[in-house]
This record gives sequence, structure tokens and C-alpha cells, in this order.
Amino acid sequence: MYDINKVREDFPILSRKVYDRPLVYLDNAATTQKPLCVLDAMREEYLNVNANVHRGVHYLSQQATDLHEAAREKVRAFIGAAKTEEIVFTRGTTEAINLVASSFCEEMMKEGDEVIVTDMEHHSNIVPWQLQANRRGIVVRHLPFDEKGDLCLDQLEQMINERTKLVSMAHVSNVLGTVNDVKHVTTIAHKYGIPVLVDGAQSTPHFHVDVKELDCDFFAFSGHKMYGPTGIGVLYGKEEWLERLPPYQGGGEMIDKVSWEQTTFERLPFKFEAGTPDYVATHGLATAIDYISALGLDQIATHEQMLTHYCMEQMSTIDDMRLFGTSAHKDAVVSFLVGNIHHLDMGTLLDRLGIAVRTGHHCAQPLMTRLGISGTVRASFALYNTKEEIDILVNGIRRVSQMF
Ligand code: PMP
Repeated sequence: MYDINKVREDFPILSRKVYDRPLVYLDNAATTQKPLCVLDAMREEYLNVNANVHRGVHYLSQQATDLHEAAREKVRAFIGAAKTEEIVFTRGTTEAINLVASSFCEEMMKEGDEVIVTDMEHHSNIVPWQLQANRRGIVVRHLPFDEKGDLCLDQLEQMINERTKLVSMAHVSNVLGTVNDVKHVTTIAHKYGIPVLVDGAQSTPHFHVDVKELDCDFFAFSGHKMYGPTGIGVLYGKEEWLERLPPYQGGGEMIDKVSWEQTTFERLPFKFEAGTPDYVATHGLATAIDYISALGLDQIATHEQMLTHYCMEQMSTIDDMRLFGTSAHKDAVVSFLVGNIHHLDMGTLLDRLGIAVRTGHHCAQPLMTRLGISGTVRASFALYNTKEEIDILVNGIRRVSQMF
């Protein structure tokens, strides 16, 4: 049984008040709250273990290294990767995508070569490619989505040509909530020998991801969106790809031998991890993985699906409600506008009722342009949200609507 009250006790912040009202935290796609076990694990490491990792011969350094490398193994198992060599720690999804954009383009792409993204990408899967377009003259193409917010996958094959070198796509849209059919994309792309990068920022918190099943070549995600600390993320890459790509940043930890004449690089995954890693955050991330694994990702998914369906159902009873993203494959994100009420006004007034939602373009301006709007209000759910909180949201929206 999924005991929501017990789950909520693990997150003390959820019982605080804002403006003298109980906090209703529905901005989980931006970042999730952290359970006590994650905070405790990180405090304990700073208190009793802290030492720089990998090179130290002393006891504390070895203990910190063991925790850091155990976290890598935990992440490997969590996403079903074959080897820990394929798990690169980064600062987050953004850095992971920038790493691939920089190293992949350097090694694999020439002027005029093309990368295909989609119309529903977060800026972090658009701008790194545009930077490469400016620097190297690569071309960024984008696959459209339909009225419901489903990708027009039937157009993908027509977009592929001999200049296409990579497909890079969101697993789950942070605005529409659409869960994209990655397996379908990898099957098509691989027919032409084209690798696929998946932005998993919004999928890893919500359902079980298996990179071998998806058969993606790269997969990026962030710790802070799945109950772990900020500042830590992961790039998974198939070993054969990571071997082929040049390093992203240079510095300590990523080298084998350095001389004025020639420098050689460390083996995987260290080749891509220049500088002191955030070894306390990796331990925090591993603890978050333990936490969600103990609750069970399938149970979490069922709970959040229930919340998403309930929310969509309740929202559609509100006058002048416009819901963005009505795909049958939708997850934990509800984006909306009511009548002519500006998203910022709606968000600000909901905030006064204790309800934390996101407003604006959600770092997806091309998606907003495609929808012909400047932004939405977005409610996004986590494992600790309740039906009662959705009732408070829906009543809050009704109350705000009546003010206009
Ligand atoms: N991609 C998607 C789909 C996201 O929702 C986000 C975070 N809003 C990111 C990438 C960027 O994640 P981060 O800021 O943790 O690097």
C-alpha cells in the first residue's frame, strides 16, 4: 500500500506554511523537495567522511571514493546501463547535453550536417545545438507535434537525410507532459546509423527507465528533479560512443599523463569528469535512488498517473479552461490558461493561496511560439502530492477566475 501520509512525513518542508496557509507544492517539474534520508546522508558525509576523492591514499579519501563510486554503480543499475564506464557525472541535464553537443559536433559533424530535435524541447536541448550551429555551421532541424501534443513521428523518416548525424529529444515534455516514444525513434534513427540522445530530466523521477530497452545512445538527467540534491546530474553514453568522443573540459582527474609535449587522457568515465566532482551530491543522489526504489517506481507511477488523470478531469470542469498537452501518454504535468487571465496573474494569485505553480514559458519558447501563446500556468506532481492538493488547486483557480 502506498501510504501517502507516511511518505509526506519524509519531507518536512511539505508541512510548512506560506502566507499562513498550508503549502501546496506543485512545481515539481522545476525541482522536487528532498526527503530527510538524502539530507541526512549528505550531512553525515560532510560531518564524518569528507575528503577529496580518487587520488588520496588516506582512509577518509578512500571512504569518500568508495561512496562516490558506489553512487555510480547505483545510477548504472537504476537506468539499466551495461557498465559504470558509461555513467558520467555532470552538474545536471544541461551540462550533460552541452557535453555531447560540444564533443559530438567536434568529432562527428561538419558544416551543413544536421541534428534533429523536436518542437517541444527545453532550451537546454536547443541552445547547445545553436551554439554549435554558430561555431561550426551545423543545421538544427525540429520535428513538429500535433494538436494533442504528440510528436509527428511519421515525419521523422522524411527529415532524415545523409547529412543527419544525431537525433536529440525529450523523453517527457516539461510543458505538455507528453511521454515520447523513444524506442520508436531509436529504431528509425538506427536504421540509418544515426545515434539518439534522450533528455530524461522529466522521465527519471516518474517511471522506470531502461536505457538498454530504449536503445538510446545518450541519456541525460538531473538529480534535483528526482529528490536528490542540486548540482548533480548524469550523462549515460554507450561505451563505443563515449570512447569515440573527445574530452569536454580539461583539468585534474581526467588525465592519464601530462607533459608539455603531450597529454593523454584517463579511461572512461573519468575522461569526461574534469576537476573535483561533487562527491557529496553523488552520495545524495544514490540515497534518493534508494528512497524511490524502496517506495517502488511502479507504485510512484501509478500514484502520479492517478493524480494527473484526476487533475485533467477536474480542470476540464472549469469555465474557459484551456489545457495544453492532452496526449494519451501524459505524465505528471498539467499546463493551462483560463480565459484571458495572464499566466503571471494566475500564478501570483494562486501563490497567495499557498499554491506553488510555475508560470511563463518554462524554458521552452519555441514550443510557446508553436502554440501561439507567451506562456502557461503549470502544475506538476511528485510522489508526495495528494488528491486533496489538486482540489485546493482547482478551487483556487475557480476563485481567481471569479476575480477577473
Ligand atoms: N530538460 C527538461 C525537459 C527539463 O525539464 C529541464 C529542467 N527544467 C532541463 C532539461 C534542464 O535541467 P537542469 O536545469 O537540471 O540542467
